[in-house]
Amino acid sequence: MTEQADILQPLPDALDKASAALASGRLVAFPTETVYGLGASAMIDEAVAAIFEAKGRPHFNPLIVHVPDSATAAQHTVFDERASLLADTFWPGGLTLVLPRRPDTPISLLVSAGLDTMAVRCPAHPVAHALLERAGPLAAPSANASGKLSPTQATHVAASLGTGHGHLAMVLDGGECAIGLESTVIGLPLDGPATLLRPGAVPGEDVEAVLGYALAKAAPHTPNDDSTQGRSSPGQLASHYAPDAPIVLNATQFDENDVVLAFGAEPCPLPKGSLNLSPSGNLREAAAHLFSMLRLLDAVAHGKRITVMPIPMDGLGTAINDRLTRAAAPRP
Ligand code: AMP
Ligand code: MG
Repeated sequence: MTEQADILQPLPDALDKASAALASGRLVAFPTETVYGLGASAMIDEAVAAIFEAKGRPHFNPLIVHVPDSATAAQHTVFDERASLLADTFWPGGLTLVLPRRPDTPISLLVSAGLDTMAVRCPAHPVAHALLERAGPLAAPSANASGKLSPTQATHVAASLGTGHGHLAMVLDGGECAIGLESTVIGLPLDGPATLLRPGAVPGEDVEAVLGYALAKAAPHTPNDDSTQGRSSPGQLASHYAPDAPIVLNATQFDENDVVLAFGAEPCPLPKGSLNLSPSGNLREAAAHLFSMLRLLDAVAHGKRITVMPIPMDGLGTAINDRLTRAAAPRP
């Protein structure tokens, strides 16, 4: 049986329903001034994993976390003076800031695709704002199937993602997006210059005028959205995050030099410290655990290998295998 995702007018009742659906781990598409977003509670790993599943993304790109205000952003990221200055000037609006994650943040690691940074934005659209006030931080990429055009009307979302997708609880209709172009993404690393990671809704010159100096240009290996720029380049993300321990893939036999990242039924008793992405073989559960378990295994490896059992290539398995292959690729 397929569930229908309703297109609803954003009346208070629908906003309450939407935030209840988000709290239970389901997805809600909502309007922003840039494009429609496919939202999940940013704190629920499996809900974030469902975003990648619904979009049919073949790999895990980091997602923008939408927040109701800069105080919320500052709870989850290291919000320095440059961030405050840019947020005071451009928020709410089409500017996304990529900032160091606070180590204690409960926001899913999958949102950051395993990086130590998090992209945050406070959107201006009144419906987005009302939803964020009720539901808290929402991870949301554009609400279209991977590789397709970004949606600027509620009906585009239904056409691109299909209304029968079980994870998509509803689409909130906020009319046509005023800007219709994705946000500008600026990186603010602690020890580096402000960097233009993606041009977008706010002109880079406006950002430079506020900062008082020129933005650095993104290094070519910056992860980019797969649908907006065509610059995402397989193999290059490995340099952003790979565990320190060597990684061996598709293994079914293990010895004392392994800590195992298992999936599904375990073929034998696993070495001490091993973890299972999903004992029941559920790919969404596995995606939800991938980055946190890689980090945990890295912390206990102490010179051993991280040895990964085979993960099937269907559904989210493609993205999981893509990420693991990059993590296992030769280090720079
Ligand atoms: P979308 O959500 O589809 O508009 O795309 C999000 C954009 O923000 C992509 O270009 C991402 O690569 C970028 N982005 C999100 N999080 C990060 C991050 N932690 N580091 C670098 N870029 C990011
Ligand atoms: Mg997109």
